[in-house]
Amino acid sequence: LPQPSLRRLDDGDLARLLPHPARRAHKYSRGVLGVVAGSVDYPGAAVLACRGALAAGVGMVRYLGPPQVADLVRQACPEVVCSTGAVADNRVQAWLVGSGMGPEHHEQLQRARDAVESGLPVVADAGALPVLPETLGPHVVLTPHAGELASLLQRLGGSEDRDLVEAGTLAAVRRASELTGATVLLKGATTLVAAPSGDAFSQADGTPWLATAGSGDVLAGIIGALLAQTGNDVGRFSKEGMEPDVRWAAIAALGAALHGKAGRSASDVNAGGPVTAGGIADSLPQIWGKVS
Ligand code: AMP
Ligand code: MG
Repeated sequence: LPQPSLRRLDDGDLARLLPHPARRAHKYSRGVLGVVAGSVDYPGAAVLACRGALAAGVGMVRYLGPPQVADLVRQACPEVVCSTGAVADNRVQAWLVGSGMGPEHHEQLQRARDAVESGLPVVADAGALPVLPETLGPHVVLTPHAGELASLLQRLGGSEDRDLVEAGTLAAVRRASELTGATVLLKGATTLVAAPSGDAFSQADGTPWLATAGSGDVLAGIIGALLAQTGNDVGRFSKEGMEPDVRWAAIAALGAALHGKAGRSASDVNAGGPVTAGGIADSLPQIWGKVS
């Protein structure tokens, strides 16, 4: 049997894989991302997820959540179309769910489950991770940090998975992907992404300054935007020698690479000093020019 692959996306890969609008593009052809994130307790996560998505070049962001949070999103990001009802079609091509949500945010969690059941590509983060169906597909990208991955494996695997979790290794990420059928991205200084086939990506493009509150919400926004823009474009990834199911892991790795590079760039602007989560989003668009 062939061994599953382990790849790293470099600048050349990014230049070929990053989405660029077609000459006759319109906002709907450029990808519509639905965002179910944030809660009355963590409203900022909704704003940061939307800012990450907008900076990653999506055609439209539609926000869905509680009225107080929708009001904040409208003020912080006038580009975003907000509503407070249930999950509806509205030309959405991919969903981001879970950032800034906890077990007590029942309505938001129900919207998150509805989004996953739509069958569209989804990035599922933070609060959504414990409430998803046990069986998923590779078009669902889970984005746990180490603690969230440990909880996931404890819930789905068993005691024999404890060593994998403690090692925090690629084996743990591959195991989580195998158990759920989803694509799994483990966040950290090195970000690891595995497809259910075991094919994996390892990205270390960032800076420790990225370890800051809200950073993961921006990452989820970036990945959501990429899913909406390139999720259907099987050809883009098969040209790079990737099986169709592996493209979801490649999209997630692309998001991690962009997030890391944007964080470094934000720190460079600050003479090597700290970055804020919002600053990561602000520094993102210029990465298109820096890798091509
Ligand atoms: P979260 O834990 O959800 O806020 O996400 C944190 C984000 O920061 C992820 O994208 C991580 O990959 C990134 N990150 C956290 N710690 C480091 C580190 N020491 N070096 C580089 N990136 C990091
Ligand atoms: Mg997080």
